Amino acid sequence: MKKCKICGIEKPDEQFKAFRAKDGLRRMNICNTCRSRRDRLKVMNSVDALSGYSDIDLIYALQLRGYQIITKS
Ligand SMILES: [Zn+2]
Repeated sequence: MKKCKICGIEKPDEQFKAFRAKDGLRRMNICNTCRSRRDRLKVMNSVDALSGYSDIDLIYALQLRGYQIITKS
């Protein structure tokens, strides 16, 4: 059993996503339910944050950061 950092509910280990760390297999502190809720919010926020920019603005911003953008023509 493991206690979720967000909802504070104790859930079985399987409810926490496992990931590979330097010192072996570890599990996240956030249960799957809270994780999916958080990811959904994150997606909504990022869509919102980028909606004011055109594609060209975004490509240009990435190129400024050194990304090579290949557009299909
Ligand atoms: Zn939770």
